[in-house]
Amino acid sequence: SGPDPEDLLAGLNPQQREAVTHSGSPLLVVAGAGSGKTRVLTSRIAYLLAGGVHPGQIMAITFTNKAAAEMKERVVDLVGRRANMMWVSTFHSMCVRVLRREAKTLGLSSNFSIYDADDSKRLIGMIAREQELDSKRYPPKQLGIHISNLKNELLTPEEAAERAGNDMERKVAQVYAAYRRRLVDSNAMDFDDLIMRTVELLQNHPAVAEYYRRRFRHVLVDEYQDTNHAQYVLVRELVGTETAESGVAPAELCVVGDADQSIYAFRGATIRNIEEFERDYPQARSIPLEQNYRSTQTILSAANAVIRQNPNRRDKRLWSESGEGERIVGYVADNEHDEAAFVANEIDSLVDRGEATFNDIAVFYRTNNQSRVFEEVFIRLGLPYRVVGGVRFYERREVRDALAYLRVLDNPDDTVSLRRILNVPKRGIGDRAEAVVAVHAEQERISFGAALREAAKGEVPALATRARNAISGFVELLDELHAVAAANDVAETLDTVLERTGYRGELEASDDPQDATRLENLTELITVAREFTEATAAAPEPADEGSPSDAAPDAASADAGDPGVEDRDADLPADDSLSAFLERVSLVADADSLPESGDGVVTLMTLHSAKGLEFPVVFSGGWEDGVFPHNRALGDTTELAEERRLAYVCITRARQRLYLSRAMMRSAWGQPMTNPASRFLTELPEELMDWRRVEPADRAAPQVRSTWGSRGGGADRTGADSAQARVAERGMRSTSAKGWKDTIALKLEAGDKVTHDKYGLGTVVSTEGEGARATATIDFGASGTVKLMLIGSVPMAKL
Ligand code: ATP
Ligand code: MG
Repeated sequence: SGPDPEDLLAGLNPQQREAVTHSGSPLLVVAGAGSGKTRVLTSRIAYLLAGGVHPGQIMAITFTNKAAAEMKERVVDLVGRRANMMWVSTFHSMCVRVLRREAKTLGLSSNFSIYDADDSKRLIGMIAREQELDSKRYPPKQLGIHISNLKNELLTPEEAAERAGNDMERKVAQVYAAYRRRLVDSNAMDFDDLIMRTVELLQNHPAVAEYYRRRFRHVLVDEYQDTNHAQYVLVRELVGTETAESGVAPAELCVVGDADQSIYAFRGATIRNIEEFERDYPQARSIPLEQNYRSTQTILSAANAVIRQNPNRRDKRLWSESGEGERIVGYVADNEHDEAAFVANEIDSLVDRGEATFNDIAVFYRTNNQSRVFEEVFIRLGLPYRVVGGVRFYERREVRDALAYLRVLDNPDDTVSLRRILNVPKRGIGDRAEAVVAVHAEQERISFGAALREAAKGEVPALATRARNAISGFVELLDELHAVAAANDVAETLDTVLERTGYRGELEASDDPQDATRLENLTELITVAREFTEATAAAPEPADEGSPSDAAPDAASADAGDPGVEDRDADLPADDSLSAFLERVSLVADADSLPESGDGVVTLMTLHSAKGLEFPVVFSGGWEDGVFPHNRALGDTTELAEERRLAYVCITRARQRLYLSRAMMRSAWGQPMTNPASRFLTELPEELMDWRRVEPADRAAPQVRSTWGSRGGGADRTGADSAQARVAERGMRSTSAKGWKDTIALKLEAGDKVTHDKYGLGTVVSTEGEGARATATIDFGASGTVKLMLIGSVPMAKL
């Protein structure tokens, strides 16, 4: 049964076949964008399965959960449902899975919380305050970045302390030590821990390492150029070496990547991992892929023209059979509104002419805040769109509060979550009481949660009676909710939490219009929970070990040889449990919220989220020095090289058509800025370009054009201010000339959607007054709630 392995090779070119069928030594595929690296990985898995490898022996690592799901789906299409038993996931998800199974070995309980950047910043903030560090000199965020870097290098607090050469490094090491201890006390791990603790687990517990090495005989990694040192070591530990004492032969390792697409150096990614693969794995086979199947020759030539300017890179030959294709459309807009209008109109006419569907189209930008202007125009023209990673639903205060309650119910030791909700809504547990309990926890070396329980029982003498009573009430409430959580699904539990804590009641009673939005978000979170329960009930994940009839003989014996297997899985949380839900929510990455194909929407996203994807039509805006390349990179060759790789990633996402635009003037931090063309744009050969609009000669005032750029900072702009103001004025006038700001004699009512020049998208909460006194109170989300006059020329339009 199953497909013939030979059939799976049909359609692959000779190098791809070689990569798919290679066995016996580690394999490195380094090749340019669109050359089929991901496809090789997928085909290789299918080929292994068709050749009799048990799916439980395969581990594949992708960059996003979404990519993992897609890869699994494709393999299922090729070889059938049993492929579901493979482990295909991101590094983080894979580590969570291992750590939950092995929690006992590490002295953890399997329901540990996962702290994201915000949680970890809070905890570091608490520690820094306790250590009385000056928050100006040692901002928690900065400390957090340093600690994260240390963890990515697998350095312990002790090692960090030994190496510390200056005051900052010594403070970092000191905070890191406390932070690490507090995470353990909280039964929590941050993202970097997930990797580091897994490495420690494998290095310090040979029996555990041997179990995984026996089990996973094939390890495959996509986007290898973006692995950091810790991930690199993790892969080595998983695969094992020839000299491993256990006598287990190393697993077959296959990694694919492209050094020119390394864009996560800020997270510690290092292309050293690619560059030195052959040294690290002396038997490694390296196979290049040279045919690009994604893009037209024009698009490839443009990508090469840009990336060629980077120093110290290996040049790659990449060719395409797809023909020359259309030239790249260039557009110089007056300002960002004009730019967005151009993009929207062009999309509209492409779809009108039947040359593309909305699904085919993506709009990329350098930073998230650039999406707003595109959204405004899209809404106005009625173009369907979706922003990837822009909404940041899980970062909203009320969503985090609600999740904090769930986390405390799941893991009573989770200090950060517990302290977050301790007095939310207000229940008479003030800062002083919190501090007293925290000191008690620290003195007794118990978790904050345990200290809280002692306080409730009157065992913390320093506490006032009133505070003690409030704490008792809170502890009772948590116990009650705990019972609710044990007997109900996540949505039901969440609903009860919001009710019994009074959280919902407080928002309902409020007349702050933002609280209405908060209520909607909480309802949305309940929907997320309900969908989660339904999805897990509908499609239970097949058991890891598979049914006996499905198991290949060696896989079965490997498992039988390890008496720990049964226990390992018995400890895991059920698929529909609170733990599983929280884990899912914690591991959502920006790029995971991609629209399903078939939705009929244009995709808006940052360049970083676009990695690995492809679209027939790509628009990319903001090709200006100071925007892209980012201002920070202008005077820094390392950062500039990374920005250039980002440009390469951008261009190579496009299959048939590419549009690159820039605005001569753009508002940044509420100020008009005049930006010169991106140097990347000027590196594109003219014959590849079809300029729809160039910079009008009369606007190219040189003193204005040099405001950013070579000076590498743009901090000192005074000399050009008056010229800028003139351009700013002209820009403004040209916007209004296009008539997109209505003079409002508008009859707005509560619930109407509007767009405002300064505040962005908003919802009318209420209106007051008549005629010249008419005002509206409008909720602009993150920009706040504002009361505005409705008469005269208001820079606002009703949608
Ligand atoms: P990136 O560097 O952007 O991650 P990649 O090297 O992973 O790109 P893929 O995404 O695997 O490239 O492939 C690019 C496109 O080319 C996909 O649409 C894929 O289906 C197609 N493709 C790859 N190999 C072949 C082939 N042999 N025949 C036809 N199409 C192919
Ligand atoms: Mg790929």
